Amino acid sequence: MSEEKPNPFKVVLKQLDIAAEKLNLDPGIHEILKQPKRALIVSVSIRMDNGNIRSFTGYRVQYHDARGPYKGGTRYHPDVTLDEVKALAALMTWKCAVVDIPYGGAKGGIACNPKEMSLVELERLTRRYTSMILDLIGPYRDIPASDVGTNPQIMAWITDTYSQFRGYSVPEIATGKPLIIGGSEGRADAPSRGVVLCTKEMVSKIGKRFKDMTVAVQGYGNVGASAAILLKKEGCKIIAVSDSRGGIYNPNGIDPIKVLKHKEKSGSVIGFEECKGITNEELLELECDILVPAALENQITKANADKIKAKIITEAANAPTTPEADEILSKKGIIVIPDILANAGGVLASYFEWLQNLHREHWSEEEFIKKLEYKMLEAFDDVYETSEKNEVDMRTAALMLGVGRVAEAIETLGLWP
Ligand code: NAD
Repeated sequence: MSEEKPNPFKVVLKQLDIAAEKLNLDPGIHEILKQPKRALIVSVSIRMDNGNIRSFTGYRVQYHDARGPYKGGTRYHPDVTLDEVKALAALMTWKCAVVDIPYGGAKGGIACNPKEMSLVELERLTRRYTSMILDLIGPYRDIPASDVGTNPQIMAWITDTYSQFRGYSVPEIATGKPLIIGGSEGRADAPSRGVVLCTKEMVSKIGKRFKDMTVAVQGYGNVGASAAILLKKEGCKIIAVSDSRGGIYNPNGIDPIKVLKHKEKSGSVIGFEECKGITNEELLELECDILVPAALENQITKANADKIKAKIITEAANAPTTPEADEILSKKGIIVIPDILANAGGVLASYFEWLQNLHREHWSEEEFIKKLEYKMLEAFDDVYETSEKNEVDMRTAALMLGVGRVAEAIETLGLWP
């Protein structure tokens, strides 16, 4: 991988410029979309289990809300920065528009290492952070969700803290909650279900058979592990997976459920039976049909794009590919199904959970999956048609759709005062 680490917000701005040019976007609207509407930085101080006080920097960035209340996940990771959160908030804004749900885009995060913190420390951190962003969030204002390093329990603490301040139960304040407090059936697998659907659609568009396709998955967390399991169920052969410590490879196929059990026991995919150990760099460059980056940003850059051999890249992660890498991949004829389409199953699931909470309903898993598949396929078709019509790649098409819909909403609302 490259030594340079591209600034994630600059990457997103470059993508915005590409879409703006293709759309012939009004320069004033383009100007509006270059910055978030609001960004809050908080210093979250908590007492650690050893009695010491530590302060962690937290963020909540609200990018744009022309299409509806702000919506976006909350990331707990040591590398979280304001520019990363701004980038992810912008992507959420385009993504909600691509799948055509009535939300704007936001993102939150805390620079911390949740793996090194006790449950009690994480609870204190989450509750204090929630109290410090309280005036910005709300079920009709800005609805947090989970992301890298956060989970349903953390969403439960956000929900409880917000409800305590309001004085009554507000389950619709956060999504990705445990089932018992208003979480949705089917939520856990929703992002990966979308990843699989988009990949399958693309494989059929290029006239190939999905069954027996070889797959490499980078990142074996919530999304990556679930994607590997669902792809195997569809008949694909998982030949390599990885996590932050490294990867494993077996050209004859790997059982993703067994790998997950191994990871739960040992903390990593490394050391799994009958597999060769490989680095994350090697995984990205493997000979395979489908590559699924499901870890973090900036994994496919100008330094390694030329070495990628997959035929289709389905971006389960947000922003894994830089614009320079996109150009190289496009020249090589590699199809990229972009993040703002491929992983939109996550925000669709959040939208469905929010709707159920607002209406005090509980949908069956079957109903949830049916609605998810319908919206994902509709979005895939919209992006594919835009790509064919304008003779652009899938990312440019998705950006044209997402940015175009947000721009139209801003124009329609007008600029006050
Ligand atoms: P997670 O924390 O559950 O998993 C991340 C995985 O990536 C872990 O296995 C970690 O070890 C691995 N990892 C970290 N750095 C790595 C590296 N350099 N190389 C290889 N592996 C590495 O997070 P998640 O919720 O699965 O999210 C993964 C990606 O999917 C993120 O980009 C996130 O924004 C995106 N996403 C998540 C959701 C969701 O609902 N969870 C929805 C849409 C998109």
